[in-house]
Amino acid sequence: MSDQHLGTSDLRDPDTDPTAAYALEPGYVRSLTDGVLATTGRTEPTYAPVNGQPLGMVPQSSTGDVAEAFERARRAQRAWARTSLAERSAILLRLHDLVLDRQAEIMDLICWESGKARKHAFDEPLHIALTARYYARTGEEHLATQRVPGLVPGLTRVDVNRVPKGVVGIISPWNYPFTLALCDGIPALMAGNAVVAKPDSQTMLTALLGKRLLEDAGFPRDLWQVVAGPGGEIGTAIVERADYVCFTGSTATGRIIAQKCADRLIGCSLELGGKNPILVLRDADLDRAAEGAVRASFSNAGQLCVSTERMFVADQVYDRFVEKLVARTQAMRLEPGIDWGSDMGSLTSRQQLETVTAHVEDARAQGARVLTGGRARPDLGPFYYEPTILEGVTPEMTCFGTETFGPVVSLYRFGDEADAVARANAGDYGLNASIYTRDTARGRVLAREVKCGTVNINEAFGATFASIASPMGGMRESGLGRRQGAEGIHRYTEAQSVATQRLVRLSPMLGMSDETFAKVMTANLRLLNKLGWK
Ligand code: NAD
Repeated sequence: MSDQHLGTSDLRDPDTDPTAAYALEPGYVRSLTDGVLATTGRTEPTYAPVNGQPLGMVPQSSTGDVAEAFERARRAQRAWARTSLAERSAILLRLHDLVLDRQAEIMDLICWESGKARKHAFDEPLHIALTARYYARTGEEHLATQRVPGLVPGLTRVDVNRVPKGVVGIISPWNYPFTLALCDGIPALMAGNAVVAKPDSQTMLTALLGKRLLEDAGFPRDLWQVVAGPGGEIGTAIVERADYVCFTGSTATGRIIAQKCADRLIGCSLELGGKNPILVLRDADLDRAAEGAVRASFSNAGQLCVSTERMFVADQVYDRFVEKLVARTQAMRLEPGIDWGSDMGSLTSRQQLETVTAHVEDARAQGARVLTGGRARPDLGPFYYEPTILEGVTPEMTCFGTETFGPVVSLYRFGDEADAVARANAGDYGLNASIYTRDTARGRVLAREVKCGTVNINEAFGATFASIASPMGGMRESGLGRRQGAEGIHRYTEAQSVATQRLVRLSPMLGMSDETFAKVMTANLRLLNKLGWK
């Protein structure tokens, strides 16, 4: 996807159109864009998807600026790595409170830059508060030096240190512009690293508000650098310099980044796309399933990596479930603007609108039925599209297996559960799944058969995504590595083993021959195994 998501025909130019005033105070915008390291003198405008109104101008970085950002971050990291875990935790807990205190401002910017409904924008400060709290309270548990059993009981002491990688590059997309800009960086900072971040060009201001909040909470200014510009140029410059890369975005870009990281022999975690299934079993609470299915499919107008695009519904309950699902979808309020009250917002760009329209028109042309939705709503704003439910989708239709990343879900009937799981597992993705059943134990057994990194039982996606202790990420082409939980912080550390050998050497002593040494060692091995030694 290109970095400027709005087509020029969608924009209102404040120089020629008197009704096109900037939506945000220029002073406020400057207070945020001060946080970008950019010396090119070039700026790019940002625009609100809800109405095409200009928001402000964002300075653009050069690859030289990226190099300078890494210099500054490296200097800051050397001092930061010497701070105590208690000090880092205290700052994270302040961030938690700040994000909750300033949630209205955060949600305003998210809504302006992404076009999402305010109720979906709320998920973002919530997720950052949860992430800050979790890593503040568990940093010690994940990062403290650990004693592990050594070769010779009592005489080989082994300490495992968690050493920060250094400077982490974070490249993030536009769809959850606050949380995805920050959530992966929080454990990186907690583990003693610095960050150089490149948010998507569409949503720079939201990401810069995140940087401002990190500073207000007490993180040193240079510890978190932000650069701006096209992914191919500025993102690449980050991958060429970072000690570790955390990327969230499309599978196509993730593949390019993985190749570059492989060349440099550095690690990366990749949070990529999905074509996520819901399974509604015959014993499901259908009202609950329909409520969850609406949220799973239409949160942020379906522009959510873990949102549902395929629903497999048991034959016995199919008709009743579909009736409830369609009724709930038709009752959704679509309202323009950024205030509370709308159940679904705008798509974020013309490109998104074109993809969604193309997928639905292709399905319709090849015989799929549109149960509800299926059309753009220019009366609400340039990129609004109705929540859409399709039936009769077949493998030759684009939306059967390709991620739409929009408010479009396809319904499929199933007779037996093994078949439903096999169809849910078809394709290359494996990010998130949901299972609705009253028999939750049975649901957990079935979950093990589903090839997805997260499975929610009787919930859309929030139960895993907002439980920060649970690792989150994709199997197969949905990603590499995990955010959240222990994995989410250990990825930013090198495990360093320090073994201290006391009294005996690990070689023959006191004139012992090699052969006798081997016999003594063999006898020891047998004894330790009998004693259950690890
Ligand atoms: P994208 O891959 O086009 O862009 C994401 C980021 O990568 C942007 O900041 C962009 O500037 C940058 N970028 C682009 N090309 C680059 C390159 N060659 N080198 C370095 N950086 C580059 O993704 P998108 O289309 O904007 O985002 C939507 C996709 O992201 C969807 O597929 C969605 O499923 C996925 N996503 C995944 C998660 C997750 O957690 N798994 C979360 C959100 C979105």
